Amino acid sequence: MSNTANLDWGNIGFSYSKTNANYVSFWKDGAWDEGKLVKENTLTISMSSTAIHYGQQCFEGLKAYRRKNGTIGLFRADQNAKRMQESCRRLLMPEVPVEKFIEAVKLAVKANEEFVPPYGSGATLYIRPFVIGVGDNISVRPAPEYIFCIFVTPVGPYYKGGMSMIKLVVSEYDRAAPYGTGAVKVGGNYAASFLPHELAAQEGYTDCVYLDPKTHTKIEEVGAANFFGITKDNVFVTPMSPSVLPSITKNSLLYISEKVFGMQVEERDVYINNLEEFAEAGACGTAAVISPIGSLTNGKKKFIFNSETEVGPVTKTLYDHLIGIQCGEVEAPEGWIIEFE
Ligand SMILES: *Cc1c(COP(=O)(O)O)cnc(C)c1O
Repeated sequence: MSNTANLDWGNIGFSYSKTNANYVSFWKDGAWDEGKLVKENTLTISMSSTAIHYGQQCFEGLKAYRRKNGTIGLFRADQNAKRMQESCRRLLMPEVPVEKFIEAVKLAVKANEEFVPPYGSGATLYIRPFVIGVGDNISVRPAPEYIFCIFVTPVGPYYKGGMSMIKLVVSEYDRAAPYGTGAVKVGGNYAASFLPHELAAQEGYTDCVYLDPKTHTKIEEVGAANFFGITKDNVFVTPMSPSVLPSITKNSLLYISEKVFGMQVEERDVYINNLEEFAEAGACGTAAVISPIGSLTNGKKKFIFNSETEVGPVTKTLYDHLIGIQCGEVEAPEGWIIEFE
């Protein structure tokens, strides 16, 4: 921890601040170049880039953690690399090899080591890799050139003074179509979610829940996070659908629930009219890891989980265990942590 910037780690919030260096690699004529670190945090691209007009772009989000033993750890970065390949395949963009992705993330993190928040601060270094279609083009077709870029920025602890319960409302909008792009991490899904989120926020909710686009009877996503519920007989349940983004946090919780805590786990339909089956529920994703859900309103009906204001015991246990793995306090399953000095 020799090289740490002197920032107010507890209060930096979730916002972007410029760091020392960013990683950029160009794809042209069928191949990625070596890639390199650059000081500037701007890109100069053709105005006719497909990323700007046709949404040909995808991104990832992961974190670097300062671990208890002083090393830096990346949590399941290979899973982000593979998911980004899925996104690239879906949008006809060239895939970034897993090794290149991981080496690039390490390079970007090491170049910004002083911005990796200290162990115990609750803050982390957020890492944002992305691929965009660039180059001169006007037709509706994939771009002639691509950029793979990574920037990092320190983000504060998500929860100050304990986890807080979120308040949700079912949206009348869909974020993705059945067999559309819901299962890949592309910007278009996010642009489509701004209005529903804004409408929910105006009514005093933290975020909105999206139902399955075909029948509007089943829960799909919570804003930009996956949904899970803990049934009254302690089963970890999460929706299964071709338009849900496969969250790495969700997959990790499935694994931990089953292998560490011996719970039964189910990936299946979760009906909005059958919330009575759950004692607890949460939203999961890299940013907050878990946001426990206090209530979920659907039209005139408001359903309350746990006590609405207190985090449920199973949710708390899963959260503590996963954070423990990320920070090096709890033993990680094989291959989950890439550790470096
Ligand atoms: C990124 C994302 C998630 C969370 O995925 P993690 O890998 O856990 O960070 C969930 N839903 C959507 C729509 C997302 O884009």
